[in-house]
Amino acid sequence: LMGYVGFANLPNQVHRKSVRKGFQFTAMVVGESGLGKSTLVNTLFETQLYAPKEPPPPSAERPKTVAIESISADIEENGVRLRLTVVDTPGFGDFVNNDDSWKPIVENIESRFDSYLEQENRVNRAKIVDNRVHACLYFIQPTGHSLKPLDIEFMRRLHNKVNLIPIIAKADTMTDEEVAEFKARVLADIAYHNIHIFEAPTYENEDEEAIAEAEEIASKIPFAVVGSDKVVETPDGRKVRGRAYPWGVVEVDNEDHCDFVKLRQMLIRTYMEELREYTNDVLYENWRTEKLLSMGI
Ligand code: GDP
Ligand code: MG
Repeated sequence: LMGYVGFANLPNQVHRKSVRKGFQFTAMVVGESGLGKSTLVNTLFETQLYAPKEPPPPSAERPKTVAIESISADIEENGVRLRLTVVDTPGFGDFVNNDDSWKPIVENIESRFDSYLEQENRVNRAKIVDNRVHACLYFIQPTGHSLKPLDIEFMRRLHNKVNLIPIIAKADTMTDEEVAEFKARVLADIAYHNIHIFEAPTYENEDEEAIAEAEEIASKIPFAVVGSDKVVETPDGRKVRGRAYPWGVVEVDNEDHCDFVKLRQMLIRTYMEELREYTNDVLYENWRTEKLLSMGI
């Protein structure tokens, strides 16, 4: 079912621990319909986690709220076991009035914190299941303008609850220059609104190669991505994952074409453990302290 994902290349120490215990990682995807969320999830994990959608029957009523759907898969690579969960949020931004679109998502993230806290408080804490969301990929429409009020509202409401990773969707619909300009605008908006996005940490005692890799990843944020679950043929006869156009092929796995490889490297290889740690040590801990204080404990 699953192709090679790459998490078994985790740093050694984590690797040894994970081999023993297996581990859990939960990623959430948020963004307006049609921005390519399901396609990117399939592309990232090299699987049809999402089956192609059938159109709803004509009688079907349009849902009026954001839905929260979660899909899990157990995967094993080089002896490391990972329970991967993807949480999708269909309906976000799709209504006439989207003022409260962020609410069910915050509630979902907090209820996962609640469930973790409840397990911590049990007498037997040997088998804690970690269903907390470790990363939230936020899909930004490739408008070429700036962030929309909806984007800003969502990120402001969520940034102290989850590791936010902003993504520019469908980057193949813009030229390289447009992507570069749009990235700068998005980053400026994020800074102006004091939104905290996940930062790739660098450690002083790391080797040059690791530092260069971290800087390279950081320089691509917000990742401009292209997703595709189709294999197409390039003019020079290679078979690649990509999107074919009359003027050529945009290759998903080609770093000259988009930032997909870097996003995947960050999420799955380089920073999966950091995303989990920051969720536990900072985001969850802050939430927990506030919660206990508010209960007078
Ligand atoms: P979702 O509603 O956000 O889950 O979006 P889907 O993954 O269902 O994709 C919506 C449509 O956009 C489909 O027709 C996809 O083939 C197409 N699509 C997905 N990713 C990309 C992309 O990176 N570039 C372009 N041009 N189209 C894409
Ligand atoms: Mg979808």
